Amino acid sequence: MRFVSTRGKAPAVSASEAILQGLAPDGGLYVPEYFPYIPLQQLSRVTSYPELAFEVLSPFFVGDELADDLAEICVEAFDFPVPLHWYDQKDSVLELFWGPTAAFKDFGARFLAACMQRLLNRRDRKLTILVATSGDTGGAVAAAFHKRPGIDVKVIFPEGKVSARQEQQLTCWSDNVTAYAVEGVFDDCQRMVKQAFMDTSLVQEHGLSSANSINLGRLLPQMVYAFHAALEVHTRTGKEPVMVIPSGNVGNSCGSYWAKLVGAPIAKIVLALNANRPILDYLSSGIYEKRPSIATLANAMDVGDPSNMERLTHLFGDFDTFSANVSAQSVDDATIRGEIRRIWEEKHYIVCPHTATGEVVRCNLAEKRPTVVYATAHPAKFDTIVEPEISAEVPVPPQLARLLDKASSCKRIGADYHQLFS
Ligand SMILES: *Cc1c(COP(=O)(O)O)cnc(C)c1O
Repeated sequence: MRFVSTRGKAPAVSASEAILQGLAPDGGLYVPEYFPYIPLQQLSRVTSYPELAFEVLSPFFVGDELADDLAEICVEAFDFPVPLHWYDQKDSVLELFWGPTAAFKDFGARFLAACMQRLLNRRDRKLTILVATSGDTGGAVAAAFHKRPGIDVKVIFPEGKVSARQEQQLTCWSDNVTAYAVEGVFDDCQRMVKQAFMDTSLVQEHGLSSANSINLGRLLPQMVYAFHAALEVHTRTGKEPVMVIPSGNVGNSCGSYWAKLVGAPIAKIVLALNANRPILDYLSSGIYEKRPSIATLANAMDVGDPSNMERLTHLFGDFDTFSANVSAQSVDDATIRGEIRRIWEEKHYIVCPHTATGEVVRCNLAEKRPTVVYATAHPAKFDTIVEPEISAEVPVPPQLARLLDKASSCKRIGADYHQLFS
């Protein structure tokens, strides 16, 4: 199996090479050259999530240097439960928040870290991972790479612009992880990372690399839980579900479109967006325009120019095919608040603001088919938004409690990338 660039001007590479490179040399994103078909009978003997991950991912690693490690990587990366919470015989929530940092980013970050570690060991190379973060990504990447020999992680966030619990998850690691609180906004952090990557002597000296969601190693594992959920719904109801996915950079939804292509029993995929809606505007006008991002309650979805849009347009080719396959709805903050309250009152279930956008879309769809909403983060990460709506405390899950108890430290720096290396 080879992976090609969405821009078509870079040589095809193996999965491992794509993971090590991150971005393709022509500036495009790596996508599979073709989508293998996995018949459902092949999955009938699967008894655990890591086994399912192995079956779904192994066609993408045929001939790759990690092929023989893949089973072990899946066991190592996916060592937490992935339950469906059923409201009734038809509708369910896919809880993607039982990993170490209580958001779905753990799936991609842990798989990527397990792959990178093995690739580096073979090459006797060292690596420094830079990650600018406004929310969940930095914590998941830090957790996944924490204490991995030969890999340093620098987490860069805007001082005072992330919630207290988010900041704790960025700053509680120490050892090989250093957190930098930058005097500035998220865009400053992102600019510093870009500038560091353009500084060729720095890149060489430190072996700089990135772990953001354009990396193939984060996207591939996000196919697996789509498969997992669709299979459970299919087994239980005999029907194919509609998947509703709270989306920002559309990595999560791209993984699910890929899963549908390789044979996951999925009827349809619908994107739930917050006020950041360039994809919705594209669907109505046929013209894609990036926008400045708008701050909302569902802050991990505050993306004005989704990085994985390039993978989706590559997948569907022309606009007609795109609009036949992609549908989306946008949800405003007042509706998000009301939905957190409604789900609590009607279902006695607590959702985070991102998941709430999915619940609104599910409600609007009024589907006869089973629907699955992806719960992308645990509500305890967003206690200050959720608790006033439900007039109760959100119980903190054990993995999050462990992180909140740890000592934290960070370096305060100006918005100058040189300070990351001094
Ligand atoms: C990252 C994130 C999203 C958006 O996922 P994309 O893959 O960027 O579309 C949604 N919810 C939460 C909680 C997230 O952390």
